[in-house]
Amino acid sequence: MAEYIAPLADFNFVISELAGLGDLNKLPNFEHATDDLLEPILEEASRFAREVLSPTNVIGDQQGCSVEAGTVKVPSEFHDAYKLFVEGGWQGLDCSQDHGGMGMPALIGSATAEMWATANMALSLCPMLTSGAIDTIELHATDELKQRYLPKLVSGEWSATMDLTEPQAGSDLARVRAQAIPEGNHYKVSGTKIYITWGDHEMAENIVHLVLARLPDAPEGVRGISLFLVPKFLVNDDGSLGDRNDVYATSVEHKLGIHASPTCVLNFGDNDGAVGYLVGQENRGLACMFTMMNLARLQVGIQGLAISERSYQAARDYAKERVQGQVPGSHESARIIQHPDVRRMLMTMRSLVEAMRATAYVSASAIDVAHHAEDADTRAGALERSALLTPVVKGWMTEVALELASTGVQVHGGMGFVEETGVAQYLRDAKILTIYEGTTGIQANDLVGRKILADSGLGMQHLLKEMADFDAKLASCGPDLDSVRKAVARGRKRLEEATNWLLGKAQDEPAVVYLAAFDYLMLAGTVIGGWQMGRAAEISHRKLDGKQGNADFYKAKLITARFYAEEIMPRSAGYFEAATSGGSAAMELPEEQF
Ligand SMILES: Cc1cc2nc3c(=O)[nH]c(=O)nc-3n(C[C@H](O)[C@H](O)[C@H](O)COP(=O)(O)OP(=O)(O)OC[C@H]3O[C@@H](n4cnc5c(N)ncnc54)[C@H](O)[C@@H]3O)c2cc1C
Repeated sequence: MAEYIAPLADFNFVISELAGLGDLNKLPNFEHATDDLLEPILEEASRFAREVLSPTNVIGDQQGCSVEAGTVKVPSEFHDAYKLFVEGGWQGLDCSQDHGGMGMPALIGSATAEMWATANMALSLCPMLTSGAIDTIELHATDELKQRYLPKLVSGEWSATMDLTEPQAGSDLARVRAQAIPEGNHYKVSGTKIYITWGDHEMAENIVHLVLARLPDAPEGVRGISLFLVPKFLVNDDGSLGDRNDVYATSVEHKLGIHASPTCVLNFGDNDGAVGYLVGQENRGLACMFTMMNLARLQVGIQGLAISERSYQAARDYAKERVQGQVPGSHESARIIQHPDVRRMLMTMRSLVEAMRATAYVSASAIDVAHHAEDADTRAGALERSALLTPVVKGWMTEVALELASTGVQVHGGMGFVEETGVAQYLRDAKILTIYEGTTGIQANDLVGRKILADSGLGMQHLLKEMADFDAKLASCGPDLDSVRKAVARGRKRLEEATNWLLGKAQDEPAVVYLAAFDYLMLAGTVIGGWQMGRAAEISHRKLDGKQGNADFYKAKLITARFYAEEIMPRSAGYFEAATSGGSAAMELPEEQF
């Protein structure tokens, strides 16, 4: 089974050169986030991921989790690994120093999150949800709740969950029915939530549930939903743990993948009501929850990147050893990495992984700027960019992850389909990524509806302009980057035309617009990824010209960028054609014919 080795050179390159750590470092609160600190953090995180988390991955897949005597059990190896995670202070890496965190940018937190997810996706979901809850509490809760809950969440001693889904309320949160009744300084929450990730376990001393529920007189729909903090154990004034609250896991789901992530049915208030505290304003809970959901969407996209990296590493290592056939023109036995078709698969994996890493980290960096820049216009611009990129990172990257995990199995041939190489687990684990945190269909609707039509395409126009301006830089690199330059220019034109097409159809043919949404999302991801690979190629070209840094790394980057331009960017033509065909056949077939 392949060991996970974090590609530190690519992490450093993307964070410093593409996502602009140097610029973040000039923002208030990030003065300490220097390039000098980046390398030791990434090295230590990589060691932790490889030595502590990764060895628990297959154990988790095989043992899964269960409910015993009303408590959820996960493999004991997870307890040991999580204890070391807490002792290492990893949960607080990108949390505010006000509550005990290290105050690093989300950009660096995203890199460590990628490593945790590559090493063990099921386990990494626990700290991922805690991170989202920390941000939500920090932005929306009262000072009293912050002081009581944040330090223990930031240290990782307590974990958190996100509780939206109910049997009748999945993608459609307007159907949420859980109830919250005011009682003194708190509320009594009741109802059933399903599919709650890490909804119960004993790795942390306490679990903080962030729960969507309705007040008795709340209006129907999403404008009548409030957000509540419901702890597993109540917390006394001195910070010690008090009574067990009335929230219990009644079962865990048996799933296709992420077996060791307990996906719980949680019952609130079956006995005397679960004590909960309002976060934000009454009936405005969904807006607060979006803080958590947006962060989680970025992080689920990063999980797609993570599982793709792991699949790539396993496929590459196998392809270097497995001997089969001869390459054309030779009578010598060949290792399968020598076959052109295996090369195609490996380069597809490698180039998409690098494009995804660049896209995700540029997006994370925009979140940092949106939160920390002093100038309001800069903050607004970064917010617009991160809002635009969030559904692309979540939707495109998770669809690609599924493709690449499958390609990883393909490189292994039959050995990929049997469990012992471990790559079948990556494919099983990857499937959830296109479903939770909003399915791909929901991301596509969000991109088209809220991010393109709602602002008349302005955010996309700003992005396309930057892409167009970048052409001059690629041109200055000369013929070496010709194919990259042409591919970025063609992709940009397609994305621009498709955006205008959507805007033109929105008024009179809304169904056609939403039929186009998936292909538009995939077009946007493919082209934005290609633009980032173009940026990577341009920087690598300059570094090689100036004889700076690691020449082998930059040469490999140039070849990988060329592969993306020549073999991946043509996908944008297909997505463009499908998105703008205007065909309504899907809606025409009568339901009874399905
Ligand atoms: C392993 C796992 C972990 C999870 N963890 C959590 C968690 O921690 N907290 C939590 O609250 N939830 C969690 N969920 C729930 C998850 O977010 C939902 O499953 C997801 O949002 C989809 O909802 P649904 O399953 O009800 O599917 P549905 O909403 O019924 O969707 C079914 C299909 O219809 C499509 N569809 C639905 N509405 C639309 C629309 N308006 N436009 C176009 N297409 C549409 C969807 O894209 C999908 O293809 C988890 C789920 C799983 C399986």
